This record gives sequence, structure tokens and C-alpha cells, in this order.
Amino acid sequence: MNTSFFNYSRILKLSGAALMAAGILSLHHSPVMAFGHDKLKESLEQLTQPPPQQAPATQPAQATPTPAPAPSQRPAPKRSITNIAGNVYQFKNNFHNSVLMVTPDGIIFVDPINNDASTWLKAEVKRRFNQTVKYVVYSHDHADHISGGEVFADTAIFVAHERAKRDIIDEKRATPVPDITFTDKLTLELGGKVVNLNYVGRNHSDNSIVISFPAERVLHAVDFIPVKSVAFRDLPDSFIDEWVDSLKTVEAMDFDILSPGHGGLGTKSDVRAFRGYFEEMRSAVTEMARAGKSADEVVAAVTMDKYKSWGGYGSFIKANVRAMYERVQANRRGN
Ligand SMILES: [Zn+2]
Repeated sequence: MNTSFFNYSRILKLSGAALMAAGILSLHHSPVMAFGHDKLKESLEQLTQPPPQQAPATQPAQATPTPAPAPSQRPAPKRSITNIAGNVYQFKNNFHNSVLMVTPDGIIFVDPINNDASTWLKAEVKRRFNQTVKYVVYSHDHADHISGGEVFADTAIFVAHERAKRDIIDEKRATPVPDITFTDKLTLELGGKVVNLNYVGRNHSDNSIVISFPAERVLHAVDFIPVKSVAFRDLPDSFIDEWVDSLKTVEAMDFDILSPGHGGLGTKSDVRAFRGYFEEMRSAVTEMARAGKSADEVVAAVTMDKYKSWGGYGSFIKANVRAMYERVQANRRGN
């Protein structure tokens, strides 16, 4: 366990009430941050200094590291920062997308992805915008999206849903534990720009949030609204019926551009299309389950041909259907 994790773990021990008393939190019921970034960051740092007697005197001895492959043996990562609208940019790191908003007072960045990706991004935004990252927002707790946040620990405050914090701690994610959490909604303001964070219910995880940029009419949603793509694998960590509800909630929100955690940009029609996919699959699977068909029979029959052109169909359609069958069976009682 290294020093930086130790520092962050101290934050966990601070109750919301303690932070409130320190003048830091006014978040659960207030949609707007009451304090500027710098004061907030400073206060958090004061509160999270490790007590001297607990601070390790020296770094623990390192085990002999496994030699990393030579750079020439690793495929070069594909990375880019491209404008979506206004001051909102998409960061692509191979198959993962993040989003960032650049303001005169710094950057709000969603999902660090991993240490290498964030190290690259940190240098690139300094070069392109002469800015640093002031807030890191986690879209949900899954490691492939939120690892590497420690790269920004010198300048950023970390924000996530309350239950993401729990999973980040319990699963020992390789990223800082959130400094600030919320349950329903939170608005971040920086440099005259606004980012709205909204919890829309359980779906691909129980802590996924949507990140919206109202001025740019961009909504960023990770993993629970694939754009022209089937869902990931066997729907791990997911909640089927509530997932459909959360898609309806997003459809009722005001935005034009859908920015997903993988693949290309979409629109609101892609949310409806994915809900259609999910509802059609659920209904076909439920009908066969009621007719007494086995999991294998359902997987063989429910081929969802209408969606053959979607990303991930070849790899994941059978796993999607089998997972749907298991969830349907777990939540029904036959005659
Ligand atoms: Zn995920």
C-alpha cells in the first residue's frame, strides 16, 4: 500500500458531517457547489493530511518487478483529443472514451482510464490549453474507466456517486477515493462553465451517473447506453428492469449529442434504439421462458437479427441473451 493511497484512505474516515462542519460540503441537497475549487481543494488537503505518527518513514521495499515488455513490443496506444462542441472535448484512449471541459480556470475531466492514458492527457492539455485538471469525475466504479486518477491528485478534487466510492474502496480500485460524493445530483461550476452530474438509477452498475454539459447540449454516459452496439458481454454488475427505466430518464433529458464511453458519438435517437434492443430482447426471452424453454434453447432462438450490424453483435449477442434469460428466470415464478 503506497503513500498516496494512504493519504486518500484518510478521506474515507471523514464523515459527511465532518466535511460539512469544515465548510466543504453542501452537496446532497444543493445543486450548486458553494465553494470555489481552490478553497475546496485546500480544505480537503488540510483535512486529509496523515497524522505524523502514522506516516510511513520510508517507502516499503519494492518486490522485484516483472520486467515490462520493451516499448517496441507493445502496440502504440491510439490517443486523441477532439472537439465535441464548444469547450467540450472527447479523449480517446484505444477503445475507451473520456470527456473533458476546458475553462479559463482549469479542466473538469471525466474518467482517467489508466495511469498511462492520464499521464499523456495531463501533458497534452498543458500543451494545448495551458491548463490543469481541477476536477476528476468518475462515471461509475469500473476499473477500466477510472484507474489512474492519481496522476491528477496534485491539482484535482475527485467526484463520484456515493455508491461508487463504496465500490472503489471495497474493490481496491487503482485510483484515488472520491473526495466528494452525491446521491441524486450535483452541479460543478468552474471558470464560468457548468457541468451537471445526475444519477438516473441502476443500470450497467448501481452507481453510473450521466454527465451533462448544458451549454454545449452534450450528455456523456458510460457503458449503459452503447451507441449502435449491443451491451457488454453477459451484462455484468447490471440491473435489467431499472436499466430500461434509466434509459427513459435519459431520453427525457435535454441534450443533442450523446457521448458514450466506447465508440463514436450518437444522439438521443441512439438512446431510444438501445432501449428498443433491450426491451425486445427482454420480451422475446420472457416469452420463451414462460413456454418452458431452456437457456440453450433461448440463446439459439433469440438471435436479435435486426441488430446484426451493431458493434459487438458477433462477440456478445449470445452472452447478452443468456444473461437476460438468467435475470428473467430469477425474477419470475412459473406455474
Ligand atoms: Zn462499466
